[in-house]
Amino acid sequence: MQRPQQLRELFSAFAPRVTSGPISHYGGLRQSAETFCEIAPASSAELADALGTAHRHGVPVRIRGQGHCLNGASLPGAGELLVRTERLADVRFEAEGTVTAGGGAVLWDVRDVVERHGFTVPVVNDGHAGPSVAGFVAAGGFGPGSSLHGGFWENVAAVTLVDGTGRLRRVDRDDALFPWLFGAMGQLGVVADATLKLVPLDSANPPPYPTGAGATRQLIATSQELKGPGLDEHERDEQLVWFTLFTPGKRLAVAQARIAALEAAHAGLLDYRRRYVYPIRQRHPVPPLVYPRDEPFFAIGSWGALRLPPGDAAGPLRACAEELTRHAVELGCRRYIQSEATWDVDAYRACFGDETYETLRRLKAQQDPALLLNRGAVFAP
Ligand SMILES: Cc1cc2nc3c(=O)[nH]c(=O)nc-3n(C[C@H](O)[C@H](O)[C@H](O)COP(=O)(O)OP(=O)(O)OC[C@H]3O[C@@H](n4cnc5c(N)ncnc54)[C@H](O)[C@@H]3O)c2cc1C
Repeated sequence: MQRPQQLRELFSAFAPRVTSGPISHYGGLRQSAETFCEIAPASSAELADALGTAHRHGVPVRIRGQGHCLNGASLPGAGELLVRTERLADVRFEAEGTVTAGGGAVLWDVRDVVERHGFTVPVVNDGHAGPSVAGFVAAGGFGPGSSLHGGFWENVAAVTLVDGTGRLRRVDRDDALFPWLFGAMGQLGVVADATLKLVPLDSANPPPYPTGAGATRQLIATSQELKGPGLDEHERDEQLVWFTLFTPGKRLAVAQARIAALEAAHAGLLDYRRRYVYPIRQRHPVPPLVYPRDEPFFAIGSWGALRLPPGDAAGPLRACAEELTRHAVELGCRRYIQSEATWDVDAYRACFGDETYETLRRLKAQQDPALLLNRGAVFAP
């Protein structure tokens, strides 16, 4: 294991920084190593170079977007290089009907940019500005627009991916790897950018596709804020946590009953809010790491502010998460495990099922043969 100062020398071409004092993720449930080395590449070429260097020297890499997932997967451990994506944040109008956004751009910011041109990206997260474009891919991604436009995966035309050896390549929709990138939590490579389908705001009068200076490339300044705008002062101080089940329509009622029973069994855990239900339309194959069948489904869940300080919450949260995993397995549903509080890798195997988990492991061996990317997040280190 290399010390942060050694990594700073090794990655001197990438403006490295040694950070002292641990960082956390949204909700503050867990912490990174006390001291670590970090870089923030500004282009896909620089990202590829950095990952190539990491591969040649066997340096484990941790990828971090906006730090909104609750399972600790974006937190660097001892001896890991943290790759922040915040400078991969440009927005480009390159091909009619699409916009290409850097993986580190905040998804809501991308939507704001394209709306100035009369278009929108129809599927973004609910709540407030937070997840990055690539963070949303890494989780799977759904939102209020999913009832009409399906999951985020239905609305991405291609991604640029850097694998664990530093190889940069375009992955189009028809590439066999494409569906596996959604929900993969960075196990198969780092998403440098994603080309998103555009929808006109006024479909009766679609605007012209943006061209010319100013429209072709814009840089979005992203922030490292863990709590985005859109929350009032009171909510900013809360530690929001959520638990989601992806369920087919025919099991909706029983899944809702299980979520209600979970809340009753863990009544002291959260200050529960009104449960959510998002229908998710399906047109194309559904990513196997998100949901096991090609059919429309619902995302239903329970959420609220933690009633315990984050330090005391781990045990009770874990018990709740494990119970939800049992319900999901019993009902043939899925948890949205990529974005939620999770404590051990067994939960991924349980949620994905043996076959899907082993396929992901095989793909990882191809994409990241030295197993350097996000160690310990989905597979045992
Ligand atoms: C308040 C709030 C509301 C939310 N609402 C929704 C919602 O409505 N719908 C929904 O689907 N999700 C929602 N989420 C979950 C969120 O979309 C996911 O947790 C998402 O992964 C967060 O993106 P991020 O940029 O913060 O990623 P991070 O938390 O930084 O990282 C998450 C994972 O993605 C990996 N990763 C990050 N960037 C890259 C990259 N460039 N390439 C490869 N891997 C990468 C990380 O290594 C890590 O494993 C919400 C989260 C919060 C906190």
